[in-house]
Amino acid sequence: MSFVCQACGGSDLKPFYRVPRVPAHSCLMFDTRREALAFPRGELDIVFCRGCGFIQNRAFDASLTRYSAAYEETQAYSPRFLEFLRELCDDQIARFGLGPGRTALEIGCGKGEFLVMLCERSGCRGIGLDPSYRPERTRSEAASRIEFIRDFYGPRYAHLQADYICCRHTLEHIGPVREFMRLIRSTIGDRREVAVSFELPDTERVLEEGAFWDVYYEHCSYFTRGSLARLFRATGFELLDLYKVYDGQYLIIEARAAAGPTEAAFAAEDDLERIEALVERFADRVARYTEMLAREVCAHKQAGGRLAIWGSGSKGVSFISALGLGEELDAVVDINPHKHGKFLAGSGHEIVGPGALQQIRPELVYVMNPIYTEEIRRILEELGLRPRLVPLAGLDDARDLPAATAIPRAAATGCDAGTLRT
Ligand SMILES: [Zn+2]
Repeated sequence: MSFVCQACGGSDLKPFYRVPRVPAHSCLMFDTRREALAFPRGELDIVFCRGCGFIQNRAFDASLTRYSAAYEETQAYSPRFLEFLRELCDDQIARFGLGPGRTALEIGCGKGEFLVMLCERSGCRGIGLDPSYRPERTRSEAASRIEFIRDFYGPRYAHLQADYICCRHTLEHIGPVREFMRLIRSTIGDRREVAVSFELPDTERVLEEGAFWDVYYEHCSYFTRGSLARLFRATGFELLDLYKVYDGQYLIIEARAAAGPTEAAFAAEDDLERIEALVERFADRVARYTEMLAREVCAHKQAGGRLAIWGSGSKGVSFISALGLGEELDAVVDINPHKHGKFLAGSGHEIVGPGALQQIRPELVYVMNPIYTEEIRRILEELGLRPRLVPLAGLDDARDLPAATAIPRAAATGCDAGTLRT
């Protein structure tokens, strides 16, 4: 049987971006370089559904993924991120009237930061599910009101009832998205007072920016506002709101059980043509972007410079893998102390804390998420360092990318063929 769209079941799929060998995980931490280098690789074969706009990796093989306690996805060591989380909590509490006597269920709660904060700030009870949850990391008076289940959500948890069901940065890791939404919908039944809130990366921005570092194996499913809204409607939900947060990086959809079929309610849902146009130019944009970055890295190394990247999560792994960075990269920095001394899947680089840069003294630092640029600048200044910070985003608008074919690679970079591959 041929592959069909996992959101609508349609078969009019347009392949538009392919990378043959990428690390199957990017947030899994390894104790040794050997293990990190040996970790399985998979293929990206990204397709766009002309019927519903859903984007997915047709080559995704769930058996290559290992979500466990060694999965280190949290961004909660960043003050900027914690501030966002607090604002989000307070907004959700106000929108859905969360408080004592009510229950919040979080599917894919990670280390539990959001759920704990939500329960602390509202007084509600919580249930959180995630195989990578680590009980020793939760220190809160609200912990006694929260039940954590270290497992994936599935039909065996259909009995869990809540007034508020949230699912943050999880749907994009799930292949059979329609099946998943149907399961959640079936647990709600006709309780129309139950609020459902999902947060996930916005793919419209990724396509616009040619942000290849945001396309990686762990994410097998990619949504824009239109495709997300269509999936929710098709699985029996009525939309309450649809919007972007965190400088436009994330999408939020809020819904409840629909009494019957619903019509599109938000202008942003009507994006099929626009997304298809973005999809058509994505691969070319990525090729030009990687070319430009490779030239920049080569020129820097040839001048005897040292180079670091800040952010060892998925964006970092994807960036290193796409540029083929090996010894050119002098440091991979992360502020999460649980990552220090561990090794990155695929490239095998060791992750260090910001303090290590005092010895390495890089002149150039690529910032994997631009939202943290000012926070990083301050940390570096406290260490007495002032490298050039290059945030990865917005280049699309700020710089005119040259056509990839116009640059004869070897001549332009002067790099040895084996030094960099793009
Ligand atoms: Zn579809």
